[in-house]
Amino acid sequence: MTIVIPEKPAAALAQLRHAGIRAWAVGGAVRDSLLGRPAEDWDLTAACMPGQLAAALPEAKPIGGAYGTVSWHGVEITPCRAEAGYTDHRHPDSVCFGGSLETDLARRDFTVNAMAWDGEALTDPYHGAADLAARRLRCVGAPEVRFGEDALRILRLFRFAGTLDFDIDEPTRAAALALAPSLATVSAERVRGELNKAMKGERPSRLGPLLAAGGLEAFGLAGKRLAAQAQETAGTKEAAETVKAAGFSGAQLKMPAPADLLAPLDAVPQSLLCRWWALIHLTGSDAHKCAEAFCFGRSFCKDFARLDDWFDAGCPQDVHALKLALLAPVPFSAADAAETFAAISPAFAPLPALYAALRKSGEPYQKEQLAITAPELMVEGVPGRCIGRVQQCLLKAVIDTPEMNNYPTLAQMARSLKHMV
Ligand code: ATP
Ligand code: MG
Repeated sequence: MTIVIPEKPAAALAQLRHAGIRAWAVGGAVRDSLLGRPAEDWDLTAACMPGQLAAALPEAKPIGGAYGTVSWHGVEITPCRAEAGYTDHRHPDSVCFGGSLETDLARRDFTVNAMAWDGEALTDPYHGAADLAARRLRCVGAPEVRFGEDALRILRLFRFAGTLDFDIDEPTRAAALALAPSLATVSAERVRGELNKAMKGERPSRLGPLLAAGGLEAFGLAGKRLAAQAQETAGTKEAAETVKAAGFSGAQLKMPAPADLLAPLDAVPQSLLCRWWALIHLTGSDAHKCAEAFCFGRSFCKDFARLDDWFDAGCPQDVHALKLALLAPVPFSAADAAETFAAISPAFAPLPALYAALRKSGEPYQKEQLAITAPELMVEGVPGRCIGRVQQCLLKAVIDTPEMNNYPTLAQMARSLKHMV
């Protein structure tokens, strides 16, 4: 087993070693390298005090406040630490430096995140490599204790289940769900960061059990629908067991399992806007409450409302109706929106093909496709303040009759419109 460390973190390790300091790559980069996935960011830990770290890497900039983390050419390096006590479920009461690699790994959340690589050998005290091979998430130490220390780990668990497509070891899962409501104690900023990572992953639907357990209610993400569905599933399973016990074979059992309410989320394009919109829609959550809790920006909320409007108007029946639906500008990818609607509602199943047909036809439906530009409209005498409205009128005309999309026809129309709009 070997891990290829990129140039910068390898250079940092070499420089630290040269200064007599033992250092290791740790956390996500080790996990992802062993999985054969590209590693996002390389974190190093060094067995030294913060002052020694600064002396060994003079160009490093401090970024970690109390944790003593420094950034050296984009590589984050933290002195090995040992922590004591988490009274608020969020922050360690104190951070003690001068810890060993063992104490540093012991404070990490999951076994697959608690491995270290020094350039030659793997340190893996919690059998993270075996869990990686089994595609299994397991807490380092007693799950109820670890989730009690920092409730964000509960969300990270379901986030990793979705991004890595791993199963969750039963004691870890049970403790996470039992303690799910304690996520309310975590800052919205940390929760949003993890949720965004989950949303960008392969299977955001893996958040389902956490939502059903009410883990994100405090942030406006409703769990009721999912909880009801979980109960229904349990009921169906129980009924199936009873029928089976009465002597019917599996083939005779025609008990439909209720569909996983969140499953469609995985088929939604991996854009944050579309995934958030679909999550809120599928869970029946209050978009305003979420936007407030997570401080979504104004443009995000505007795009969100535009998606709502488009969805509420129903699926356009033909290319002409689609062009009219796109008349009000769409500030996001219309193709992504079409895929999103189709993923969550069978009524929108024809939309992606309809949109593709529109693109292929080359028929105009956006002002950029008009055969007359804004400066040309001004040359034709349309005052600057009227350009937008004139363009809308021209667009409506060419949507109905694409053959009108030529300069002389549009220029003539614009000249007669300039007094009317
Ligand atoms: P990603 O690739 O998505 O960034 P990651 O595992 O690197 O995943 P980070 O948030 O970057 O996640 O954290 C880096 C490492 O720090 C983790 O692998 C884990 O060892 C440790 N860690 C991060 N957050 C926690 C936490 N809340 N509790 C315990 N350990 C944590
Ligand atoms: Mg990381």
